[in-house]
Amino acid sequence: MENTQRESFETMLSPIRAGAHMLRNRIIMGSMHTRLENEPDSLAKQIAFYAERARGEAAILVTGGFSPNAEGVFDSEGPRIDDPDEALHLRPICEAVQAEGSLICAQLLHAGRYAKIEGCVAPSPIRAPINRFIPREMTDADIRRTIEDFAKAAANAQAAGFDGVEIMGSEGYLINEFTVTHTNKREDDWGGSAENRHRFAVETVRAVRERCGPDFLVIYRISAADLVEGGAPADEIAALARKIEAAGADILNTGIGWHEARVPTIAYPVPRGAWRQAAANVKAAVSIPVVASNRINTPALAEDILASGEADMISMARPFLADPHFVKKVREGRADEINTCIACNQACLDFIFSDRPVSCLVNPRAGRETEFRDTLTDTPRKVAVVGGGAAGMATAAEAARLGHVVTLFEAHDRLGGQLNLARAAPGKDEFDETLRYYSGQMHKHGVTLRLGQRAGLDDLTGFDHVVIATGVTPRIPDLSGVDHPSVATYAEILSGERAAGDSVVVMGAGGIGHDVAEFLVTGSAEVHDTNAFCETWGVDPAFAAPGGLAGDPLAPKPSRRKVIMFQRKTSKPGAGLGVSTGWILRNALRKHGVEAMGGVVYDRIDDAGLHILMDGKPKVIAADTIVLCTGQEPERALAEALAGRGVTVTMIGGAKEAAELDALRAIDEGVRLAQGL
Ligand code: NAP
Ligand code: SF4
Repeated sequence: MENTQRESFETMLSPIRAGAHMLRNRIIMGSMHTRLENEPDSLAKQIAFYAERARGEAAILVTGGFSPNAEGVFDSEGPRIDDPDEALHLRPICEAVQAEGSLICAQLLHAGRYAKIEGCVAPSPIRAPINRFIPREMTDADIRRTIEDFAKAAANAQAAGFDGVEIMGSEGYLINEFTVTHTNKREDDWGGSAENRHRFAVETVRAVRERCGPDFLVIYRISAADLVEGGAPADEIAALARKIEAAGADILNTGIGWHEARVPTIAYPVPRGAWRQAAANVKAAVSIPVVASNRINTPALAEDILASGEADMISMARPFLADPHFVKKVREGRADEINTCIACNQACLDFIFSDRPVSCLVNPRAGRETEFRDTLTDTPRKVAVVGGGAAGMATAAEAARLGHVVTLFEAHDRLGGQLNLARAAPGKDEFDETLRYYSGQMHKHGVTLRLGQRAGLDDLTGFDHVVIATGVTPRIPDLSGVDHPSVATYAEILSGERAAGDSVVVMGAGGIGHDVAEFLVTGSAEVHDTNAFCETWGVDPAFAAPGGLAGDPLAPKPSRRKVIMFQRKTSKPGAGLGVSTGWILRNALRKHGVEAMGGVVYDRIDDAGLHILMDGKPKVIAADTIVLCTGQEPERALAEALAGRGVTVTMIGGAKEAAELDALRAIDEGVRLAQGL
């Protein structure tokens, strides 16, 4: 991955004109659905969320999507901006953002056939593969009324104090559904030729511009690569971009991939900057500022894209959850202090998909700004933290930041704990950024580090508070032959301590089983090199072909190594993986020929391999290597010894509860514990 310590961020920090506005820099906080609007105290939470990011100096903040009418909502609770009086309630959010020197734009998003409601609408009555509701085909009158709804919604936003709107024309929502033959089978003025398919988008922009006047910022988010069959080729995208410019847009943001696309677009298996060429194609077509987006998470990469002329601005969404002060830190020469988004989706998209308000794995404050404090403690305590994994580092960094005197003991000679293993999975070396951030914060706030020191009872006397974050050890199942030379733990494989052979059985199909299987079959280039990634997932790296696709995203790509993964449960292997990343992992394994089976009974391991019962019948699975991914046990020996001496300790992370431990829970527990000291 590229160096984040780049010296100059001159282009990124330079102002740029967009329509009637001079923007203070080239960074936009992209639209994110937060679900904060459905929370108790929703206004206060939204004000805190957006104001914090304006203090972080993004030039423009774009809100989550507001539907311009009743049919366009995501779901029955989705936000709308079609009532002028309701819209006025958003004014305090705008004022809070503007007081910090940023502009704020409301995103206008009509979900079209992605709306999870009875009575959803689309250009043609074709059900989306990700929605059970079949859309109603819009009539000519529906279409004209919807254009008018967009114009009214923009006027409502303007009256509420927004500086502009972003019209959502990508990701497979209504406007995008009109632009391509994949979803537009109409034979009237709104379908058929590219001219006709583009009409709805163009008339919408024109109507918004006419209604809101020349000073109102109009951003249009164009689909720079649909990544679906029947998507737009590059020449049609360029033609649409030119028409949108002529219709009055000030900025062209870019979107990549429909929600139904089978190509990953933003999660960690996607190389950083993978989509920059798609933005460059749009930029070549127009003279208004063009924004690159998706999988851009460091200032160095943003600067590189801007300085190379591929885009005029950068939109980042999740990186502003991970660190609201992204731009400010760059401006102050503190880029190395940025808490980097690792593209895990675990607390942002996965929370949203499970009806929870947005947050962030690496920054638990995101979306809960009102629950955390920054004031220094009046009663500094001497705190010992035992364990330098995610939980321990987060506790130590936050406690020291708040003014406590912290010593962290780590038995190994390096920090990171389980992160050092997790980082071995393809694309998860993004965890290195988390390690950099938290170790940097510990250094900055004066945590005393005792690396390579296994804390004993005597080391822990004289502290006001002892935090046990000693983590987990791999679970060794009670199985005959588990000590056979062919057997390795996931820790031994991921750390490189043991190498796997050409035929591998993975026991345990949880998160780690999947990660290990992927580690065994996926080449590093597929997640780090854009061309290799494009080849794996059937993407045209020039984004010239229709939909930006050069082949079938799910076409097999067999691996030299044969891997088979088992679990005892009869449920679908991988069912517990994250909603927004599990499908990528499952598809990647399938493409690489990994078999996954549930309902297995383990019998024994010997020279012949793993003996199992499948459907009650005995079978032997020959394997060079059998990898145990069978969960973890908490590491509590020290905690128990301390308790025996009457020392009060607080256990967090895996030491407290090994089941379903991940970095999300570890960091959240650590930061919250430190806040409560
Ligand atoms: P996990 O998801 O709970 O999976 C443990 C696996 O071990 C299960 O497949 C379980 O399946 C099997 N197992 C448990 N006890 C066993 C025993 N005594 N003998 C044989 N098999 C046994 O835990 P994990 O994979 O260790 O992951 C730890 C945490 O990290 C989880 O919260 C996980 O979600 C998270 N994580 C997530 C990801 C991701 O989403 N990509 C990646 C890594 C880690 P059966 O009992 O059915 O056999
Ligand atoms: Fe990024 Fe993960 Fe945080 Fe989402 S949860 S913003 S993907 S680090």
